[in-house]
Order: sequence, then structure tokens, then C-alpha cells
Amino acid sequence: MAKRQVARLEIDPRLCKGTEGCSICLDQCGEGVLGIAPGFSPRGVHPAVVVELAKCTGCELCVIHCPDLAVNLVLSEAV
Ligand code: SF4
Ligand code: SF4
Repeated sequence: MAKRQVARLEIDPRLCKGTEGCSICLDQCGEGVLGIAPGFSPRGVHPAVVVELAKCTGCELCVIHCPDLAVNLVLSEAV
């Protein structure tokens, strides 16, 4: 079976409600890929951000569990 590879992983700061009130994606990720943005988003909160993309396994748990559909993951198949 082909191994999953991450082509792109982004969190949309316009959609993320902020880590002050939600840390579901951070809690779901056991790889330490996600963190808290040091600055404020346009919504006035600290959104989740990608801090260690190389560690991402492409498991999609953060995508599936984000209630605000803020996580955008694009996978590519490697042979
Ligand atoms: S689960 Fe979604 S809304 Fe919650 S902190 Fe993560 S990206 Fe933001
Ligand atoms: S896809 Fe999986 S490993 Fe990658 S950031 Fe989301 S929860 Fe973490």
C-alpha cells in the first residue's frame, strides 16, 4: 500500500475560533505538529498553527474533529 504523504497542512485563522476556547486539534494530534499562534488572528484570538509539519503523519484526526472546518490537509500518494 502506498504511504501517505502530506502535501499541505494549513489552519485558516478566519475559521479557527481560537485556542483560548478550543484545543481539539492540539489534543487530537499526538505528534506535536500543531501549536498556538503567538499573535492574534483577525478574530482577536490566538488560532492554532502548524509548527512541525515534518512530523505530520496525515492521519486526518485534526481535520475530522475540528468543529469549525478550519484545518485543510492535502495528501499525496507516494510510491
Ligand atoms: S479544533 Fe479547529 S477551531 Fe479548535 S483550535 Fe483547532 S483549528 Fe481552531
Ligand atoms: S493529520 Fe494527524 S499528525 Fe497531522 S497534524 Fe493532524 S492530527 Fe497531527
